[in-house]
Amino acid sequence: MDLRSPFVVSIVDLPRQEGSVRHQSYVFETPEDFGVELLRVVPGSALKANLMFQSVSEGVLIQGTVDVTLEGRCARCLTELHDDAHETVAELIFYPESAKALQDEGDEEADDLPLIEDDHIDLEPILRDSIVLSMPFTPLCEEDCEGLCQECGERWNELPDDHTHEFLDPRFDGLAALAAELENKGNHA
Ligand SMILES: [Zn+2]
Ligand SMILES: [Zn+2]
Repeated sequence: MDLRSPFVVSIVDLPRQEGSVRHQSYVFETPEDFGVELLRVVPGSALKANLMFQSVSEGVLIQGTVDVTLEGRCARCLTELHDDAHETVAELIFYPESAKALQDEGDEEADDLPLIEDDHIDLEPILRDSIVLSMPFTPLCEEDCEGLCQECGERWNELPDDHTHEFLDPRFDGLAALAAELENKGNHA
């Protein structure tokens, strides 16, 4: 855990007695990588978190909300997207000895549990998961976005229903070449 990270917070003033509660609000600067391929929290924008820390027997339960500003592209037509997101946070952070006890019981998932280290909790992975895991794999500009016309690249939702492209029959290419050839011969006759 990097204590210089702004996301690493101290819980030293939270009594370990079960049921003890602390409320805390934060405004973080969003890092670069809070997102998926087509959608992310605007880097550098304000990431607001309202959290409640509650002592429980295994560690500290964190519950609350997080508000962010999203940017991205529609998966079908690539139109730029801008949106606000409001997500809930609910995560149990374990005392190292609680995680150790679970490991000793053979709980394989206990290896990856978020841990309290020296009275500190790293909020970054907790907030990242609550935001990123709620993101759609295929963000859309509109529910019924029909994507782009393959020929001209315009958005189908903005094109008339009868939009089409006319193509010359490739056989005309041959005739045009023949005509040019005949004309050439004629000029040299
Ligand atoms: Zn779209
Ligand atoms: Zn078109």
